[in-house]
Amino acid sequence: MNILFLGPPGSGKGTQAQNLSSYLKIPTLSSGDILRKECDSGSQLGKEIQIIMNKGDLVSDDLIVLLIEKFLIKNDSNGFILDGFPRNINQANILDSMLIKIEKSIEKVFNFEVDDEILVKRILGRYSCKECGSIYNNYFKPTVNSGVCDKCGSTNFESRKDDNEESLKNRLSVYHKSTFPLVEFYQKKHLLISIDGLKSSSLIFEELKKHFKL
Ligand code: ADP
Repeated sequence: MNILFLGPPGSGKGTQAQNLSSYLKIPTLSSGDILRKECDSGSQLGKEIQIIMNKGDLVSDDLIVLLIEKFLIKNDSNGFILDGFPRNINQANILDSMLIKIEKSIEKVFNFEVDDEILVKRILGRYSCKECGSIYNNYFKPTVNSGVCDKCGSTNFESRKDDNEESLKNRLSVYHKSTFPLVEFYQKKHLLISIDGLKSSSLIFEELKKHFKL
């Protein structure tokens, strides 16, 4: 089963990609995560990527395609979930050609729908525990005891460098301009399944599971 997750930043697709990945026992590739890993490595390329990500712009199609291609070629499991790629029509066309080469195809595309107003609160309020990675939100899900992680008790928290007002504004505008057209692209291929991203995380996961017979 080869799956794509589409949706604006903060729509919850990353969380659900992880949930579904464990449920279906297939790997998830998050384009944002592989780019962040490159940034953390301290390489020259990482430094260049960080500048682009901080602004909320997209990195070049050539670069992201190269990274995704590496993953697709070496992936030998029974499927995959792509989260954050493709992000524009050019990337989607390149993905189609890559998949033809390796004799695979996308079977389902889940599109997470959430209004911009909610996305802003979700993203600007989001922070995570530096020790165990648990995710919290100032508006929707603060820690039970202020400043202490519910799960591991740590008092060290962090926010993503691009989760600030200016970068977010740009990420949302890039989403509407470049990524949203993919909804129609996959609709025309009869692959699109809409998900109401406003529902609770557990309800969304239940809904996703219904699309798979295990
Ligand atoms: P979000 O969806 O919350 O913005 P991601 O982790 O998916 O977060 O992406 C973070 C950043 O990584 C994007 O703003 C962009 O700079 C870069 N990025 C991720 N995926 C792609 C892609 N497919 N093409 C180009 N840039 C990408």
